Amino acid sequence: MAEFSLELSEDQLTLQKWVHDFAEGVLRPQAAEWDEREEFPYPVVQEAASIGLYGWEFMAEIMRNDPTGLSTPVALEELFWGDAGLGMSIMGTGLAAAGIAAGGTREQVIEWVPQCYGTADKIALGAFCASEPDAGSDVGGYRARAKYDEATDEWVLNGTKAWITNGGIADVHVVVAVVDPALGSKGHASFVVPPGTDGLSMGQKYAKHGIRASHTAEVVLDDCRIPGRCLLGGKEKLDERLARVREGQSGNSQAAMQTFEATRPSVAAQALGIARAAYEYSLDYAKERHAFGRPIIENQSIAFMLADIATELEATRMLVWRAAWLGKQKKFKYAEGSMAKLKAGRLAVHSTERAMQILGGYGYTREYPVERWHRDAKIYDIFEGTEQIQQLVISRAISGMRIV
Ligand SMILES: Cc1cc2nc3c(=O)[nH]c(=O)nc-3n(C[C@H](O)[C@H](O)[C@H](O)COP(=O)(O)OP(=O)(O)OC[C@H]3O[C@@H](n4cnc5c(N)ncnc54)[C@H](O)[C@@H]3O)c2cc1C
Repeated sequence: MAEFSLELSEDQLTLQKWVHDFAEGVLRPQAAEWDEREEFPYPVVQEAASIGLYGWEFMAEIMRNDPTGLSTPVALEELFWGDAGLGMSIMGTGLAAAGIAAGGTREQVIEWVPQCYGTADKIALGAFCASEPDAGSDVGGYRARAKYDEATDEWVLNGTKAWITNGGIADVHVVVAVVDPALGSKGHASFVVPPGTDGLSMGQKYAKHGIRASHTAEVVLDDCRIPGRCLLGGKEKLDERLARVREGQSGNSQAAMQTFEATRPSVAAQALGIARAAYEYSLDYAKERHAFGRPIIENQSIAFMLADIATELEATRMLVWRAAWLGKQKKFKYAEGSMAKLKAGRLAVHSTERAMQILGGYGYTREYPVERWHRDAKIYDIFEGTEQIQQLVISRAISGMRIV
């Protein structure tokens, strides 16, 4: 058993500084502009690619070659400290890559993950398409259908996916669809829709409250035909799994949930980055801003707010790091990934709201970044499992009971 330590390795410290410098030097100065434009920030993602911060090699480096699991949260905290809208534009592809890694064969991972990212000269994007207009949390309610056409060895996809990060502008879409409606959420499978496939189009692009640089849209599948080899995991494995479920054996957890479980500590780290940005900004401000002849931090009510947030930040980081470590060791016991996501999402909302309070009138204006951070923070209570869904997952894990 290795000696217990919470010290980051030299490599991790270098990674942390490298991402921080990019966040500070590239993301922060452009964040307000891209938020206003509400357009996908191609030049920013291109810049990230040019230094090796966007690409499958980077993801492989921080995820695979790290026995501790901490490199990913460390990097994401820094990136999202810079800006969450731009951060999500850089990291959104990761969800598609994670979907392929979770359900795909080795050959499929090798074929498709690099195509999600493209190259440093010509970037590509990936999208993970699970949610639907009538079913977000309720994955058993998905209606998008995948039917196998034996004559041509193709799958035919039909349906509409909602709120998809990079939806319709991505090169590679990973789609979760129903293959056997009688089996509810256990009758799903995941598919890769290759670049340029007919029958996949973008529906409405959503105007959002926060993370506005990140592109979110509907994805419409209209007789979208894809080769049989695009079924993640392969047909034989799917048929075997469906047979087990039909025989009443429980089978694996649903396709979409596998992806979400693996990515929750990373999502929590993003929220932590926003929370820390707001904390640091409001701490500096409270020391500078004078009212009644003294810096406002000399009022206990302001200082105690900051003391509480500082404490919450440290506690949340420990939860996130531990969840990432447990995830890496495949030792999740009590839904620790969900705990980290729940806690970090709430903290991001709370910390940014308190920061606005500390900045007063300035905090409410777009002249200062904290109102943007507050808008950005709220998504962390909603996507990748809402606050209530995390509570549901945790309560089932701690009780072993069928909580509904
Ligand atoms: C900006 C953005 C980006 C997104 N990116 C993606 C993406 O890339 N891919 C993707 O597939 N999806 C994506 N989503 C979708 C997101 O995951 C869903 O919005 C989320 O899962 C919630 O689903 P819903 O919106 O249908 O809410 P609902 O499921 O309708 O929930 C509405 C409310 O009811 C509560 N609720 C629901 N069920 C229960 C229950 N059993 N117990 C208690 N409370 C409950 C919820 O907590 C919530 O408060 C994104 C969403 C947004 C806004």
